[in-house]
Amino acid sequence: MEKLKVGIVGATGMVGQRFIMLLSDHPYFEISALIASPRSAGKTYVQACEGRWKMTSPIPEKVKNMILLSSDEIDTVKELVDFVFCAVSLSKEETRELEERYARAEIPVVSNNSAHRWTEDVPMVIPEINDAHLAVIDSQRKRLGTKRGFIAVKPNCSIQSYVGALAPLRKFGIREVVVTTYQAISGAGKTFNEWPEMADNVIPFISGEEEKSEKEPLRVFGEVVNGKIVPASAPVITSQCIRVPVTDGHLACVFVKFDQKPTKEEILALWDTYQGKPQMLSLPSAPEKFLTYFEEDNRPQTRLDRDIYGGMGVTLGRLREDAIYDYRFVGLSHNTLRGAAGGAVLIAELLYREGYLTKTN
Ligand code: NAP
Repeated sequence: MEKLKVGIVGATGMVGQRFIMLLSDHPYFEISALIASPRSAGKTYVQACEGRWKMTSPIPEKVKNMILLSSDEIDTVKELVDFVFCAVSLSKEETRELEERYARAEIPVVSNNSAHRWTEDVPMVIPEINDAHLAVIDSQRKRLGTKRGFIAVKPNCSIQSYVGALAPLRKFGIREVVVTTYQAISGAGKTFNEWPEMADNVIPFISGEEEKSEKEPLRVFGEVVNGKIVPASAPVITSQCIRVPVTDGHLACVFVKFDQKPTKEEILALWDTYQGKPQMLSLPSAPEKFLTYFEEDNRPQTRLDRDIYGGMGVTLGRLREDAIYDYRFVGLSHNTLRGAAGGAVLIAELLYREGYLTKTN
């Protein structure tokens, strides 16, 4: 099988580096262009990453000497790739404009950025939950006037540790959710060396995160109506997002109230058997099991459980009845794998298998 050629926009950043690792030996995709800001353009990848390579394994040989392009060099990029992944540190307006410029130039964009998460005809996908939202790509292409080009995005990393657990329980009518997330420092693109104040510390504020944690699940649970995604109106979600001294892994403590309260056994059975399109299609990055429940009272733990199924699985534990809400439980997911680059690669694998990503180069 001939692989699709892929570019990484923001290749030198923390998420970009994860993309490099995930794509260096991928069965569907091969890296053919590395793209960053004009500051890095013209340098080899190894030069541009000097002093800021954050992965535990070394830079793969295949990309070490690739010359970085500037994101402005769209015509050159277009000659080299079939689609791009995008994870950049630009303002929302600049990111929105950059991604739309690529899509209009017939370069499909699979994005980690938040800029287009609320654009009505842009699918924001957790492939196990709302793969049906990919249908809006047809109307997006009409709006953009493109044949191939479109944008698809991944939701925020904070929601991945609880939205998957809520998805199969929606049939009981989820009325209210209270969630506190305990988020790793890599979510801010940082390591302990770069952020020494985080050692032995907790910071009770992450800019913009609570709003995303409350609103984005409703869009994931939404429906496609006339080529647009209409967010769900329930449940009401309220959240607090806390930065904790952990390298990777976002943990969520969740309280939930239903219209019709299920039994604990019903919930556990639904979690145990839940699977989505990635499992049905055996996509290369799909975890064999999307949700893994631990019976032990002291699980899931960030360091012990975040890497389950290559960091793509979600782990759950401590499901019990609650005196005020119906149930409470704990969820965990890897924020830079399932929550960032890995989640985007899984979306791209699904887009490829569903015929939205095709070969041109
Ligand atoms: P980062 O480490 O600061 O990296 C930023 C990247 O953007 C660098 O490659 C940088 O290139 C590039 N860039 C800056 N200006 C550019 C331009 N004009 N054109 C092209 N590239 C440009 O940031 P990050 O943590 O990887 O995050 C990137 C994005 O992913 C953000 O939108 C973030 O919110 C999102 N995200 C991050 C996480 C996470 O866990 N870290 C999770 C989900 C989503 P230079 O090296 O040339 O400056």
